[in-house]
Amino acid sequence: MKPTNKILSSYGVTVFETMSQLAIKHQAINLGQGFPDQNGPEELRLIAADAVINGPNQYPPMLGISDLRQAVAGHSKRFYELELDWKTEVMITSGATEALASCMLGLIEPGDEVVLLEPLYDCYLPMVRRAGGVPKFVQLTPPNWDFSIDSLTNAFSNKTKLILLNNPHNPTGKVFNKVELEVIADLVKKYDAYVICDEVYEHLVFNNKKHIPLITLPFMRDRCIKIGSAGKTFSMTAWKVGYVSAAAPLLRAISKAHQFITFTTPTCLQKAVALGLQKNATYFQALANNQQKKRDLLKERLTAIGFEVLATEGTYFLNVDIRSVGFKNGDVDFCEHIIKSAGVAAIPISAFYQGTSLDHLVRFCFAKRDQILEQGAEQLGKYLMRR
Ligand code: PMP
Ligand code: GLN
Repeated sequence: MKPTNKILSSYGVTVFETMSQLAIKHQAINLGQGFPDQNGPEELRLIAADAVINGPNQYPPMLGISDLRQAVAGHSKRFYELELDWKTEVMITSGATEALASCMLGLIEPGDEVVLLEPLYDCYLPMVRRAGGVPKFVQLTPPNWDFSIDSLTNAFSNKTKLILLNNPHNPTGKVFNKVELEVIADLVKKYDAYVICDEVYEHLVFNNKKHIPLITLPFMRDRCIKIGSAGKTFSMTAWKVGYVSAAAPLLRAISKAHQFITFTTPTCLQKAVALGLQKNATYFQALANNQQKKRDLLKERLTAIGFEVLATEGTYFLNVDIRSVGFKNGDVDFCEHIIKSAGVAAIPISAFYQGTSLDHLVRFCFAKRDQILEQGAEQLGKYLMRR
């Protein structure tokens, strides 16, 4: 038999799927894979349900329904003063994941260099490599997950096609500040590169810190591709509705990939998300406030049982240093232990690295009901006492 594609075959099942399956098997509390354990707004679910029953149930336009593309443009104007032409600069995808795939396939030529910040979200590297890109890694260093300007500068060259920037950042919870964004923007401009801005957690930023889309910085309007996700903004990760905003020539190139991958995204969900993006500011503020309280609750409980908890400015995630509870065998071993012995699932941070990596940090998702967070921490506490 002839071999299948070498690049993709070399990867195992994703850490999120693996951990969620193990959580089910061991009936563990799942603080691993990032998803809220409650339904998103009922109003949106009713719109989607009505569209399933009453239609339309046929192919929507390839770029997405006009209501949603207009709503994406309206949202960008309202939150970021970013003016977009919804007809030529906005496209709807089947989740941010498809948006990322379409960007890589639409932009990368074999041999192009792609700058990636490590730790990095799991699908980035396989997609870059499958598109023929050559990864150039730059490390973010805990506890603040800073990058060295020298290392970033060294990662750029005349062969750099693009940098992938996830902001707010999974798994670290870092929100890049204006100065850091300016450093990135300067290099992008100098090397005539593009930026894929994965901003799926744009509305999950805490303590009144502001999310700054890189596309709003000087000279970045024509170089950045901004990606959002309804799954995150409306707490329904199964919906898989993403949105891509970019200057028309870039969007056109990306749509060439999209039209051959999924072509389009279910109308029922697009109709509901169009309404969601027009919700008033209190919805978006409440979303962040709610998750901030959950972050604080889990942080407090994990600190009380002895963990050193790293700061989190955004996303669904916080990280703990497992050495602080005397665990020396690495993050994978720790996660295997707690799933079986404490009944709690988490994600080892080493899964977000290629090759050499940190192995003393573990990621917990706090987007869960308070009683679940409390119970998870209690089970972990009892396990630590028994060890
Ligand atoms: N990017 C990041 C950083 C993520 O954490 C996720 C996970 N949900 C995605 C992209 C994928 O988003 P979607 O579910 O909309 O495909
Ligand atoms: N983004 C989610 C996380 O980081 C996982 C999504 C997925 O499983 N692909 O946990």
